[in-house]
Parts: sequence; structure tokens; C-alpha cells
Amino acid sequence: MGKLSNQVKVAIEKALTERIEALKEIVAGPELIKGFDPTLPGRRLPAGHLHPITLILNEVCGVFEKMGFSIAQGPEIELDFYNFEALNIPPDHPARDMQDTFYVDDKVLLRTHTSPIQVRTMEKMSPPLRIIAPGKVYRCDSDVTHTPMFHQVEGLMVDKNVSFSHLKGILTYFAQEIFDQDTAVRFRPSFFPFTEPSAEIDIQCVMCRGKGCRVCSQTGWLEVLGAGLVHPAVFRHVDIDPDVYSGFAFGLGIERIAMLRYGINDIRLFYDNDLRFLKQF
Ligand SMILES: [Zn+2]
Repeated sequence: MGKLSNQVKVAIEKALTERIEALKEIVAGPELIKGFDPTLPGRRLPAGHLHPITLILNEVCGVFEKMGFSIAQGPEIELDFYNFEALNIPPDHPARDMQDTFYVDDKVLLRTHTSPIQVRTMEKMSPPLRIIAPGKVYRCDSDVTHTPMFHQVEGLMVDKNVSFSHLKGILTYFAQEIFDQDTAVRFRPSFFPFTEPSAEIDIQCVMCRGKGCRVCSQTGWLEVLGAGLVHPAVFRHVDIDPDVYSGFAFGLGIERIAMLRYGINDIRLFYDNDLRFLKQF
């Protein structure tokens, strides 16, 4: 009996050892068996994250989506008609000089603003409209505050009895959501061919709280938005009766907002692809 039990013990031990060796090879490969501890946690792969411009873009769109605006999009290679003509900027209009345009040919260009999406949306849909149109735009310009490609967000609301006070309310709410709940907002008369009346919207300087500093050129204010009531000529281009409907439109630069939020003084940092910079957001 003792002899038999010994044989069984040896057989079991041999089978166990063989199986453990076989499993070790399956798990790690023969060369890694020494020093391999399968109970250690795995090494994490370095994970990327969203670009700072994308973060601000999502945040800006989020504020307007909360107010019932839906996202609209349009082509970046655009017809002259949508970029200029339908926005009340005919071929010889001096306002064309305000924007340095990349032309593909006589009739095709890289859009200089997101405003063509207003026209495309109003062609396809009838009021009431409440859209926000984020996207890339292109201008032949490059220095510490300009890049040839940058991002804008366009807003448009069209309905019966939409007035300037709706515009003021919505943009004030926006500025306070993005910057600070007690950020002061100032509306200054301005000119855009596609809105009348038009305004530039300033916020109280986020760096010095209005006391005056280098960022705000000692004025205490920072320009962040352009806006106005949709020009009747724009409505006529898309067959909306300006005697029945009214609306407002606004546009803002995402890079500008991101620079103010993060305290960045050179716009080109966003597009250098330097990970030491991008990792900070
Ligand atoms: Zn300041």
C-alpha cells in the first residue's frame, strides 16, 4: 500500500510541475518567465486628451445648446456667393478688404467666417430658427494674435418679434457662463454689412478686472464678439420676409476666448503641436 501511494504522489507531482511550466510559457513566453509577477498591475499607456481649442469650442457650444440652439455645419471650401454676396457684400463692396481671403478661383474660396452657414441654414429651413455653427475659417494673416486657420462660432436666431434685447440677454448670459458670473458686458455700436444695427461686445478685462493692464491696452475692456440684427437684404436673399420676421446673428473667435481663459499671449502656441504646452490643459 505504501509503495503504491508513493507512486501516486510522484505521478501527481510530475503532472502538476509539467502543467505549471506549460502555463507559464503560455502566459509570458519562455524568455519572460523569470521575474514575471502576474499579480502586478499593468503599465498604463500614455493617453491623449482633447486639444485646448476643442475643449473651449465644446464649452461654448454647450452654453448655447442649453438655451435651445442646435448645431449647424457648412463647407470650409465655400462659394463667393455664400461667403460674401448673400451676406450683403457685393463684388465691389469695401467690406471685402476687411478680410484677407484665400481664393481657389473667381467664384470659390476658403470661407473667411462661419456666417455663410446662416445663409445655407435659412435657405433650407424656415423660421423659427435657433442655430449655432462652429467651424474652421481661413484668412491670409499670421502674427501673435492671428493664424491663417482659426475657429469661429456663429449664432443665429430668427423668429417673429426677435429684438436687440434678446441678443443682449443671450450674449450677457454667455459671457457670464464662460468667464465669471459677475463679468460686466458692454455693447458698442459698430458696422457689419450683414447686420443692422451692429455691435461689438466687450467684456470687462479678465486679467485686471477693469482696472487697466497690458492685455486690455489699459482700457479695462476686451473685445470678444461681433453681433447685430440680421440685415433685411440678407433675409431677401433667402426669401424670408423681413416685414414678418426679425433675427439676430453673432460671431466669436474661439482662439480669442481660449487665450483669455487660459492666459495665453501667443495664438501660435495652439498649433505648434508642442506636447509640453498641450499637456497642461
Ligand atoms: Zn486688463
